[in-house]
Amino acid sequence: MKFNRIVIKVGSALISPDSKSCSGTYVQAIAHFIIKCHQANKEVILVSSGSVAAGRNLIKHGSPTPSISTKQAMASVGQMKMMANWQRFFDVPCSQLLITHGDLKDRERYINIKNTLRILLANGVIPIVNENDTVATEELKVGDNDNLAALVALISEADCLLILSDIDGFYNKDPGSHDDAVMFDEISEITNEIFDMAGTTNNIIATGGMRTKIQAAQKAVENGIETFILNGTNEQVFEKILAGQNPGTHFLANQEVSKAKKHWLKHTLKSHGQLFLDSGAVNALKHNGASLLPSGILSITGEFLAGESIEIINASTKTIIAKGICQYNHQDLFRIKGAKTDEIQSILGFCPSRVIVHRDDMVIL
Ligand code: ADP
Repeated sequence: MKFNRIVIKVGSALISPDSKSCSGTYVQAIAHFIIKCHQANKEVILVSSGSVAAGRNLIKHGSPTPSISTKQAMASVGQMKMMANWQRFFDVPCSQLLITHGDLKDRERYINIKNTLRILLANGVIPIVNENDTVATEELKVGDNDNLAALVALISEADCLLILSDIDGFYNKDPGSHDDAVMFDEISEITNEIFDMAGTTNNIIATGGMRTKIQAAQKAVENGIETFILNGTNEQVFEKILAGQNPGTHFLANQEVSKAKKHWLKHTLKSHGQLFLDSGAVNALKHNGASLLPSGILSITGEFLAGESIEIINASTKTIIAKGICQYNHQDLFRIKGAKTDEIQSILGFCPSRVIVHRDDMVIL
């Protein structure tokens, strides 16, 4: 498999096949797949549904359609069960990230999530993301984990999104109600006709159906992320993916995107400041593909916020060598310039990022 950073979305039907508790039935094979990915030095982020279903039996409810606050209570107790159900299959630690749409819209929180994911992955942890159902009101919700998974793939700059469900792939009509439905192997363009073929779900604990999966695929492929809808109940699917084959529906990523991102960084994004580097840092950036660390920064000009664009300058020749997105604002950066990465925490009292400009957010000129 050629992918290096994979976001796997696991639908509620796989976590809770009986719709009222957590089960290892399908989770075990998925966990095994993730372990294989780790052994091949791939990074994996999970987006897991199922907290409401996992807590369903633990909160009293009369009606088959419980109230919002009853469901939020189910999510609260079920989230623990769902996490424990994953962790039991791994020796490496799992971590929990509960996010809402509000967190993704806010620039600072967005960068915090991005940096946290980066550190978790660098430490071999399996981040497990879910919508924060207990606090999210309708307006603050992403609404479904298919779209959430696509946003997580974007934020983490994944190169692959696997949407695991209980169906082999995407069909030209709902195979649940049409015997003559035909599955697509590959989709190169997500048109309105494709959306029209995507139906809802009959599963009482599922939210999305196929429509939200197509929305998610659209977000991901537009951003250069290869996307697959796969049957997570079938272990052979994982063997095929590992062997580089396509066992479901493959939504082809837009190939122009990484070129476009570099173009955007280089030409479009207005710089708010300049970082002047010593020769060691210049060399590491230009020749070793490194991220920029604080120790190589000699001086700073301009005023900028974390997440804004800056120019990176060779202090001895005064030439611009790169442009990038800075993880720190100019005041904080002023205090940590020249310091070792391990000293950031003691100087600032916090360390949202171990690098000043990450390699992925930089273009060498
Ligand atoms: P999950 O809980 O895994 O996210 P859902 O139950 O929400 O899954 O969505 C998967 C279901 O969508 C399938 O089981 C199928 O019944 C339904 N579906 C509707 N339209 C299609 C389609 N065109 N192709 C495949 N499945 C479809």
